[in-house]
Amino acid sequence: KPNPFHHDNFHYNADEDYYVCPMGQHMRRIGTARSKTASGYRSESARYRAQNCKGCPLRCLCYKAKGDQRTIEVNHRLNEYKRKARELLTSEEGLKHRGRRCIEPEAVFGQMKFNMAYRRFRHFGKDKVTMDFAFFAIAFNIKKMCSKIAKQTKNGGNTPLFGLYMLLSRILHLENRIFWKNPRKSVA
Ligand code: SF4
Repeated sequence: KPNPFHHDNFHYNADEDYYVCPMGQHMRRIGTARSKTASGYRSESARYRAQNCKGCPLRCLCYKAKGDQRTIEVNHRLNEYKRKARELLTSEEGLKHRGRRCIEPEAVFGQMKFNMAYRRFRHFGKDKVTMDFAFFAIAFNIKKMCSKIAKQTKNGGNTPLFGLYMLLSRILHLENRIFWKNPRKSVA
């Protein structure tokens, strides 16, 4: 965002670990803030504080909190992830994939997140998350195949997989009852 008073736009000296505010004052590291989200994710933010904001002509534009020392909290890890994501999204390949985003994945994500309530992975760790999503994708594709076969049957088309369709329909119906209508919480 083009706001010169947002700490994302302050100059950061990584070697000496300090920020420089719009008035040129160094904001020194004063500690670390730790937080935990409702789902149990822990994060750490570095805290930096200006030495003295009293009498600064930019004070009213800079921050609204009380006190004469502006304090900011920066999650360096998150910023690094954002930087990497921005780099990928603006790369040549990223632009190519983004061009297809509204055509291919958006509708599927809509179905996953809103119709099937698959908003969070139910496992932790890369391998388990891959397994979690792979099972979901297999089920999703089977469901899609079933609706295609059902459509063909309705239109009187040739349906050599009708037996398979009937079997999968039953499995999906059961799955739908026990899983998608009662999405489970994350497990390790
Ligand atoms: S109010 Fe403080 S932090 Fe903001 S510009 Fe002035 S000196 Fe810098």
